Amino acid sequence: MSLFQSLVLPESCLSCDDQYELTMYRGDLEHPCAPGNKWHKLQHHLRAAALQKAAVIATFGGPFSNHLHAFAATLNTQPYKAVAVVRGELQPQLTPTLQDMVKQNVELWPSSRSDYRLAEQADVVQKVNAVYQSVYWIPEGGGGRLGAQGCQDWAQQIHQQNPHFDAWVVSSGTGTTAAGLLAYKHTPDLQVFSALKGEPSQRSAILTMAQSLSPLSSKRLSDKLFFHHTVHHGGYAKHSVELLSFMADFAKLNPLATLDPVYTCKSMFAVMSAMGAGIWPYRRTLFIHTGGLQGWRGFSKKSPSC
Ligand SMILES: *Cc1c(COP(=O)(O)O)cnc(C)c1O
Repeated sequence: MSLFQSLVLPESCLSCDDQYELTMYRGDLEHPCAPGNKWHKLQHHLRAAALQKAAVIATFGGPFSNHLHAFAATLNTQPYKAVAVVRGELQPQLTPTLQDMVKQNVELWPSSRSDYRLAEQADVVQKVNAVYQSVYWIPEGGGGRLGAQGCQDWAQQIHQQNPHFDAWVVSSGTGTTAAGLLAYKHTPDLQVFSALKGEPSQRSAILTMAQSLSPLSSKRLSDKLFFHHTVHHGGYAKHSVELLSFMADFAKLNPLATLDPVYTCKSMFAVMSAMGAGIWPYRRTLFIHTGGLQGWRGFSKKSPSC
């Protein structure tokens, strides 16, 4: 099955079929248990851990985190002990994400929210380092330069399969994925939609990270980066009434292309709205599905577990 799938555009978008072609790259189907961008963000971290001869790989995330979920599935096939620092107290009833992680032998270390915010300076990190020797730490979300590098490789893989698009669309949280995709030399215009509220400064962070990886000039990178920070619908993981109704319509039109509840739903709404208004500036667009469907379980809707 091809990972490039044509999407059906809404009927309200009267002239859309003549004007626009929207294709989804099904990143959510690449790896059954570690789908989407998170697997790619881990790859260079795994190499660094091997070079460092680490015995343990540790990382951070919230109780519904897509990163933690992909981390558990990826580490499950690797010769390392896996440790996850989880934000907040562990509830007696673990979230489905954390239950999957326990099944995959990840050791969970709870941390208070204030300590968690200190990232690698947190007390809990010192405690883990005191218990285990040679721990390799992956930043929250699998970010950092190595995370972006994995997404630069991903861009190359996607482009080599199908180079015929005028623009790519991707959702952002930390912006690491967007930076990596932008850095690849053949990536076309990149339209980035942030799931966070009030992060206009993220555009320059994406650009700086991409510059550190890319053979392209700063001007060329800046010219192909389009960053949107006003499509959050109230904030991270929040939903407006309009967004919920869009998601219901989208699910009817494209029943096999399920959007995740935090990131891709918002980007898709923004793209289809711009197409409906006739102001989307490209003919052939590739929407990169970054995965995250396991996150639905945080919204008490059923989806398969790994
Ligand atoms: C984590 C995540 C993102 C954001 O990735 P960043 O590299 O942090 O910008 C986008 N979509 C999904 C589904 C994710 O899980």
